[in-house]
Amino acid sequence: AKSAGRNSYKFYTADLNARAREILEIESQLRYALDRDEFVLHYQPQVDLRTGEIIGAEALIRWQHPDLGLLGPVRFIEVAEERGFIVQIGNWVIQEACRQLAQWRRQGLPRISLAVNLSTLQFKQQDLAVHLQRALSAHGLVGSDLDVEVTESVIMDDVETTIHTIDRIKSMGLQLSIDDFGTGYSSLSYLKRFKADKLKIDRSFVRDIPMDADDSAIARAIINMAKNLNMTVIAEGVETIEQWKFLDREGCHAAQGYLLAKPVPAKEFEKLLEKGVLL
Ligand code: C2E
Ligand code: CA
Ligand code: CA
Ligand code: CA
Repeated sequence: AKSAGRNSYKFYTADLNARAREILEIESQLRYALDRDEFVLHYQPQVDLRTGEIIGAEALIRWQHPDLGLLGPVRFIEVAEERGFIVQIGNWVIQEACRQLAQWRRQGLPRISLAVNLSTLQFKQQDLAVHLQRALSAHGLVGSDLDVEVTESVIMDDVETTIHTIDRIKSMGLQLSIDDFGTGYSSLSYLKRFKADKLKIDRSFVRDIPMDADDSAIARAIINMAKNLNMTVIAEGVETIEQWKFLDREGCHAAQGYLLAKPVPAKEFEKLLEKGVLL
């Protein structure tokens, strides 16, 4: 047992060193990534649970790193936040999402809204609302074309400032979604104050439904609460038809997950849009 323990310790430090090296590699390249145009957005459809129709999409960032290949956000977003790059990166995401959506409209593809993820630091920007408005106007879009997804931690961070910014964003017509719902430390009272339009049930509560009785009860409770507060409920991480059926039975409005489609590059997403119905 002792030697096994030592071995696993060794593996652990090896992993740790690899991750530490990767972080250095990421830090050294991240400042150039925007100028070199190395970020791309992938798009994952959000689908109406009744009809299987695509009603929207979430834009998810990826980084084509010069040495490490295509990186998902878990590999670099935290570093970007710590180093303060996230604001510029986030502004690029907003611009690029608007540009892409406008292009799809010009191509005559079915009209959807696009959701972008915003991080806490973006809310500390004085001009987040201005930036959103400029990006929309520059591409001939209006507020209702864009959803913003924020986690509970964004909301709990600096409540007064955040409420003010959210009110402005909402008055421009953008929809506000609470991401990863149920995983944060916030109280339920903020739901009333923030008047979110959509609530996304975190994947951790979806994974084991309908088999796990506790998770099923939690998912059901979230759906009922959201509906009673007149919010749209989206289930994240739907991978099986059993999960889909459960959510449909419970009256959940929409779903996102590998059962329907993984996040894909814009060109591939166009094919999904042309299909229109995914299930
Ligand atoms: P999130 O906002 O909760 O996004 C959903 C994540 O779940 C995505 O991971 C998506 O690929 C993954 N996912 C979707 N369906 C399934 C499924 O059926 N099964 C499983 N196992 N996973 C599924 P991704 O793209 O790696 O993004 C991770 C996180 O990075 C996002 O979590 C979000 O918090 C953050 N992120 C992504 N793009 C941006 C961005 O542009 N700005 C900021 N600030 N954060 C971003
Ligand atoms: Ca999200
Ligand atoms: Ca989420
Ligand atoms: Ca998440």
